[in-house]
Amino acid sequence: MSRRRDGLIIAMDGPAGVGKSTVGGLVAKSLGYRFINTGEMYRALTWKALERGVDLDDHDAVLAFAKGLNWEFKPIEEGGVALKTFLDGEPVTSQIREERVSVNSSRVAANPGVRKLLSRFQRDLGERGAIVMEGRDITTHVFPDADVKIYLDASPEERAGRRYKQLKASGQDADRGAILAAILKRDLSDLKREINPLKQAQDALVIDSTRLTMRQVADRILRRVRREAKHGRS
Ligand code: C5P
Repeated sequence: MSRRRDGLIIAMDGPAGVGKSTVGGLVAKSLGYRFINTGEMYRALTWKALERGVDLDDHDAVLAFAKGLNWEFKPIEEGGVALKTFLDGEPVTSQIREERVSVNSSRVAANPGVRKLLSRFQRDLGERGAIVMEGRDITTHVFPDADVKIYLDASPEERAGRRYKQLKASGQDADRGAILAAILKRDLSDLKREINPLKQAQDALVIDSTRLTMRQVADRILRRVRREAKHGRS
């Protein structure tokens, strides 16, 4: 595997709101690796297309729009581990976390041309290794030969509860039932999608984080990474 000259590829998938970003950031920081949340790319495109009034169900129009944008991936601050998405020179902001973007991102994610384009960016960013990348199809499609594959899971109720607490803590209004319904809807569209749906890779380490802290999950992954590094696959 000489092409991975910088380190391992750690791929992680799992459903909405399971903590992949928090855990991925912790793992990347411990290892001095870069971290990429690929959902951000789908969200960034969804947000920009909504702003410009592009019809999200017109696959050709959305793909042409995506190809016309200038995509860059770099840390926001000097020395940051997370590579953020920049579109036409602007970094994504909290606007990509809005509910209208969450809801519509699965329409954009069902677009085969868009998936191909974004998968190519993801492979280019990760192929040299020393990377933690998370999303829905990283272990199965983008890097099926990743050195470490993780499938992170938690019950929908637990995921909704965490999101509820986050919103409340930041002083926002939150409705637990509505959050749970939105999570179940997004799970369904990610699982049932025709192209590259969310599924567990056969050789992934499955971690149920329902009763674990994010630090405990990260430590479990780091143990697996150390074992992999010792057996010299990189
Ligand atoms: O991870 P996050 O929930 O922010 O992702 C937003 C949406 O982007 C997901 O619901 C999914 O439809 C899509 N996505 C995807 N493939 C990825 C990452 C995200 O289809 N690798």
